[in-house]
Amino acid sequence: MSLQQVIQKLEDLYPHQPEFIQAVKEVAITIEDIYDNNTNYNTYKIFERLTEPDRIISFRVNWEDDAGNIQVNRGWRVQFSNALGPYKGGLRFHPTVNESVLKFLGFEQIFKNALTGLPMGGAKGGSDFDPKGKSDNEIRRFCYAFIRELYQYIGKDLDVPAGDIGVGGREVSYMFAMYKNLTHEYSGVLTGKGVGFGGSLIRTEATGYGAVYFLENMLAVNNDNLQGKKVLVSGAGNVSLHAAEKAIMLGATVLTVSDSKGTLHDAQGFDQQKIDWLKEQKACHKPLAEYIEKFGGEWLEGQKPWQFKADIALPCATQNEVDATNAQQMVDNSIKYVVEGANMPLTAEAIDVIREHHVHYAPGKAANAGGVAVSGLEMSQNSVRQYRSFEELDEQLKCIMRNIHDDAASAAQQYAKGDEPCVDYMTGANIAGFKRAADALVAYGVLN
Ligand code: GLU
Repeated sequence: MSLQQVIQKLEDLYPHQPEFIQAVKEVAITIEDIYDNNTNYNTYKIFERLTEPDRIISFRVNWEDDAGNIQVNRGWRVQFSNALGPYKGGLRFHPTVNESVLKFLGFEQIFKNALTGLPMGGAKGGSDFDPKGKSDNEIRRFCYAFIRELYQYIGKDLDVPAGDIGVGGREVSYMFAMYKNLTHEYSGVLTGKGVGFGGSLIRTEATGYGAVYFLENMLAVNNDNLQGKKVLVSGAGNVSLHAAEKAIMLGATVLTVSDSKGTLHDAQGFDQQKIDWLKEQKACHKPLAEYIEKFGGEWLEGQKPWQFKADIALPCATQNEVDATNAQQMVDNSIKYVVEGANMPLTAEAIDVIREHHVHYAPGKAANAGGVAVSGLEMSQNSVRQYRSFEELDEQLKCIMRNIHDDAASAAQQYAKGDEPCVDYMTGANIAGFKRAADALVAYGVLN
């Protein structure tokens, strides 16, 4: 079956899963050549196998709210592929979560995790539960109820969930406690735990810091660095604020962050004190707009951050947040680098606009792999029951991001078509990640 036929089959089977189909198409268009040139891939039906999850665990979560009412949510774990290691990927709690979103995230996670070079398969899970406006007690009850349903399907050598949107250290710790309680086992079954009880230093910072380390490598290819660069960041969660923080540390001026309600613009740029305030504000689910009373700047209700002139854009909010019009706005505002901190924040049309205008572009599965990479380091620390220092882990993170950059760049050089002035990281990352998972499946024969 050709890649096109596989896509057709998926479109027929899953017409209501647009995000998943989008993610599959993006990989397919970039791996076509290596796929056709390796008869094993066709013989062993590798693309068909890698686009159908090993299994999807779907369950109901009953929990009690503060008023004593029983609430019902849906929960899932998409175990996509364990070709390269135990299933690994975050849990997302957000009202937009459905099978399509989790399948796209789980599918991308296979290649992202492969790129880290660490032994991790791909998975994703979560719930349509909305943590916004919930009390700490409600969050705790939901997390307990969620893991009570999922615990028998996960394990330190089987499937190791972590955080994602709506799931941070607090939620992971609640879930870890319930898992420990139910199984009488203290193991590295979840990553992103509190650092006092098995969590790894720099895990919280890793996705955002890692994206900026990736960007540094891209800049270095062009004999450039972050010093004096103007940066637009979208989102105000863990990834965004740590990406902003690291960019500032490396000499850039970060002008924006945003949330679902609008954009915060500070023409002076954020500094560490302002970032710390934003972290605190977001941790308490308080409005970003309150910033202007304290520090000045402007609040743009209902708007995205791409209307400002800058050198670099870091979309760190969520999937498909940047459409073709936003991408054109970036081009018009002289953005030269777009690095995805979020998973699939650019629509297919937005990617086309960016690439047509020769903007340097790094896809999320390469640029935001730092988070899961440090999760992999947390798993190995848990296995040997030892902790590593912040400095040591930061060095390892930098090294992993450099390797991902170099692997993607060399695959791009070897396989990308056309004589682009920019490194085709999208093709390079997809091919480098795909080859690792695909070659393992060929070696396994018919089994996954
Ligand atoms: N949710 C993160 C991601 O998108 C991290 C997953 C993990 O640490 O397992 O890669």
